[in-house]
Amino acid sequence: MIIIVKKEHEEKQINNLIKWIKGQGLEVDISNGQHSTILGLVGDTSKIDIDLVRSLDIVENVKRIQEPFKCANRKFHPDDTIVDIGGHKFGGDNFQIIAGPCSVETEKQIIDVAWAVKKAGATVLRGGAYKPRTSPYAFQGLREAGLQLLLKAKEETGMPIVTEIMSVNHIDQFKDVDVIQIGARDMQNFELLKEVGKTKKPVLLKRGLANTIQEWLMSAEYIMSEGGKDIILCERGIRTFEPYTRNTLDLSAIPLLKELTHLPVVVDPSHASGLSRLVKPLSLASVGSGAHGLMIEVHNDPKNALCDGAQSITPDQFDDIVKSIDVMLPLVDKHRDL
Ligand code: PEP
Ligand code: MN
Repeated sequence: MIIIVKKEHEEKQINNLIKWIKGQGLEVDISNGQHSTILGLVGDTSKIDIDLVRSLDIVENVKRIQEPFKCANRKFHPDDTIVDIGGHKFGGDNFQIIAGPCSVETEKQIIDVAWAVKKAGATVLRGGAYKPRTSPYAFQGLREAGLQLLLKAKEETGMPIVTEIMSVNHIDQFKDVDVIQIGARDMQNFELLKEVGKTKKPVLLKRGLANTIQEWLMSAEYIMSEGGKDIILCERGIRTFEPYTRNTLDLSAIPLLKELTHLPVVVDPSHASGLSRLVKPLSLASVGSGAHGLMIEVHNDPKNALCDGAQSITPDQFDDIVKSIDVMLPLVDKHRDL
């Protein structure tokens, strides 16, 4: 349920209303938009008498939200949420590029790639320390040592870092990480979502391998209902019947999400296709579809990468993609941090 408050209200009246709502056992999300103030009620609103609330002096209108996702709903929060990662803004008319290797391999590898992608225009460094692999015999990531190397790369280059968490038992290890990534395989690990939400840290929430947009937004809702407000959604392709690509990039999810939610949306063209030669066309298509950014796998030596070499591009190829993105951004009214 949302309560739209009249423009000409007094602070005291709104505070009384919030106090009353909280007294009913509900949480209140306050959205001070350009045109109105909206109070979003979180919890079981069935016992709230809509007519009573509507009759209050300061209330313009009251509406029940049909969709099961509330905090993530655009109706709750009409303006775009802007997620600030170390001074780099995700959402609105900002466009950000996250780049780095699939996994952290050595100190030299992560630091070299970090400098290269930063020079080309990336603002956030990615790199997996804990890797979700289909085979238990495949490289599992450097784990805690990998996190330390990422922090070192952050210290050297000044780039904020994003890396995937796979277990609630590791939450403490992520305290200095700027953005916690929830991978596709964990999008519906509800206990993990709740614990990550409690940290209140920014989260990059990837779409599940075969999940609908509504299921994805419900996962965002799990994080938000625990107080985690800064969520960046990441479309990374879904599993279809098409074997030529690793996944199928769902481009229509981007404009649809912008209608349904206020959260920023980025695209990962690397996992979406699994093929390095498709990364450029899919990146440009994502810009054209209105994405707020991209997350791209870049490796200094893709042929010898320990994970996802076939979809990794070189720093030179990355630089070329960023140049083409810059040509397109004015067409979609977005700008990149320079
Ligand atoms: C990744 O980004 O390293 C990753 C494992 O991606 P996904 O969860 O989308 O498969
Ligand atoms: Mn990968």
